Amino acid sequence: MTDEYDAGPVAALRRIAFLLERHREDTYKVKAFRNAAAAILPLGEDAVARAVDDGSLTDVPGVGASTAAVIASAVRGELPDRLAQLESTHAAPLTAGGAELRAALRGDCHSHSDWSDGGSPIEEMAMTAIELGHDYLVLTDHSPRLKIARGLSVERLRRQLDVVDAVNQHLGGAGGDGFALLRGIEVDILDDGSLDQTDEMLDRLDVRVASVHSKLAMDATPMTRRMIGAVTNPRTNVLGHCTGRMVTGNRGTRAQSTFDARAVFEACAEHDVAVEINARPERCDPPDDLLALARDAGCLFSIDSDAHAPGQLDFLVLGCERAEDAGIEADRIVNTWPRQRLLEWAAS
Ligand SMILES: [Zn+2]
Ligand SMILES: [Zn+2]
Repeated sequence: MTDEYDAGPVAALRRIAFLLERHREDTYKVKAFRNAAAAILPLGEDAVARAVDDGSLTDVPGVGASTAAVIASAVRGELPDRLAQLESTHAAPLTAGGAELRAALRGDCHSHSDWSDGGSPIEEMAMTAIELGHDYLVLTDHSPRLKIARGLSVERLRRQLDVVDAVNQHLGGAGGDGFALLRGIEVDILDDGSLDQTDEMLDRLDVRVASVHSKLAMDATPMTRRMIGAVTNPRTNVLGHCTGRMVTGNRGTRAQSTFDARAVFEACAEHDVAVEINARPERCDPPDDLLALARDAGCLFSIDSDAHAPGQLDFLVLGCERAEDAGIEADRIVNTWPRQRLLEWAAS
């Protein structure tokens, strides 16, 4: 006896990809499902149903044997086996705690698309953010100097902002009550503490996350100067993954940067810059002791997924659990605020 399923093949493939991603499965496994969804979306329901009937589904570029099986089941109105299996093994809550704070979050201030080192198009990230109930998602692709991550030049960022406008128009328009994709950047903090994008472009953005990605092992004194330089820049809103550590994952582990954390967090508090609680399991940044230090310094916080794939947008609860454990009140977390308040804070 097979369960009924009426959401259609594209939704089934996207849901499988989402569940695999939030469970931190390898990207290549996920790609097959996202590629198949993208391949059949433009064909339309009737053509897909005909291809199921005459057995020609695997002739469609991007559709293989396992994705064809999912599509065929969904077209017949049956819950695909692969999806049924993942709903039982991969859909459970990611944490025991954090649910209350997670429910208070209205959006996410740090995410990547395939314009830099993310794996999915902007619109797929936005769609998934809507499905997760977000009021907004800030798109924060990398800045020019981070070449390894295809950081955006001025010209590419300009073009991306046009795409963000187009996505918002398609979704019913930012500025209304509906979901908004917000203009952002994860801008590199250069060695001297300056930001790796022009002031003119930074001024066109809604939210700016500033992060260190290079020379993470520099001495504490210049690193402190570098980070305080970024924090005192009036354009900086969020200090991203402040220690740069990697605690797990296929990129290996990396020690945290050393700096005068008290001085950096005091500068954050003074300049109204939120300290990011980076929810990525690989990063889990800042560590507990620094989180407590930032709390006691009176900092604001932003709980961010730093998602590089749609399913990773669901990582927020991991940061929420840590914030709850650290006793950080919801009102100090900028992404619990209404969107208008967030935008006013970021612009001031
Ligand atoms: Zn980063
Ligand atoms: Zn990032």
